[in-house]
Amino acid sequence: MTMSIDARTKPSPGGLGQALIRLMMRPARIASSQPIGDRFRLVTLEGAALKGVSWTPGQKIQIAMGSAFVTRTYTPMDWDAGQGRARILGYAHGEGPGGDWLRSLAPGAQCDLFGPRASLNAAPLAGPLVVFGDETSIGLACALAAQDPARSISCVFEVADLGEAEAVVERLGLSKAALFRKAADEAHLDTIGAALSSLAGVGASFVLTGRAAAIQKLRHGLKRRAVEPRRILTKAYWAQGKTGLD
Ligand SMILES: Cc1cc2nc3c(=O)[nH]c(=O)nc-3n(C[C@H](O)[C@H](O)[C@H](O)COP(=O)(O)OP(=O)(O)OC[C@H]3O[C@@H](n4cnc5c(N)ncnc54)[C@H](O)[C@@H]3O)c2cc1C
Repeated sequence: MTMSIDARTKPSPGGLGQALIRLMMRPARIASSQPIGDRFRLVTLEGAALKGVSWTPGQKIQIAMGSAFVTRTYTPMDWDAGQGRARILGYAHGEGPGGDWLRSLAPGAQCDLFGPRASLNAAPLAGPLVVFGDETSIGLACALAAQDPARSISCVFEVADLGEAEAVVERLGLSKAALFRKAADEAHLDTIGAALSSLAGVGASFVLTGRAAAIQKLRHGLKRRAVEPRRILTKAYWAQGKTGLD
């Protein structure tokens, strides 16, 4: 049997993916994965490659879902560069590689991650901080709250399940979090928009994250209230019908 040069030398997609993982990603081990409710997992990653890393709150990591070409993005809540440990709060919303990965985690499992890399930097924002988001933003809120305990941070989250999310924010000590159940007609966003507008009046800055459509609507409302663009930071964490945003 003859084989062309190309067929012999071309790496298989799996082989190429593994080579990229070794070259570009940090290997880590799952130290623990604690379920909070059905869908949240508080995950501690650890490993020598996580030591000595420079991380600032708001940055992201991308975790390989078995291949360097399929990653899902998460926000470290904290990062102990001395011990080589970082924690994320993962929300397994439903079907998808990220949710499957979160539900499968057990101590000792291995994974590979890219980052930390820039995503949101709230440090330059003036005044009290208002963090809007959803289940995917609670980890970010924890990181920002820990960054400057003297700073006033109010969190507003739209969530699918109030009871489950309440247990999470209580467990993580986000005492100033206001939770709203997502309504199919988006009516909850009118209530949230009104609350944000009143906070704009007292000089707050805004970090809008989570669902793209909700961010768009709330940002529009703040602009109508003449809140300066430099007081608003936005980052969509997911959008209906799109997969694996980073
Ligand atoms: C910078 C950044 C930081 C992030 N940080 C976190 C974090 O700390 N914790 C966390 O849990 N997530 C975080 N996310 C969001 C997470 O990466 C996405 O939710 C991701 O799509 C989940 O992957 P999946 O494989 O489960 O779903 P995918 O395969 O990506 O998506 C499948 C379908 O589900 C929908 N979908 C995706 N996310 C949600 C959701 N939350 N609720 C309802 N439907 C959804 C999509 O629209 C798509 O139609 C972050 C995203 C970004 C960009």
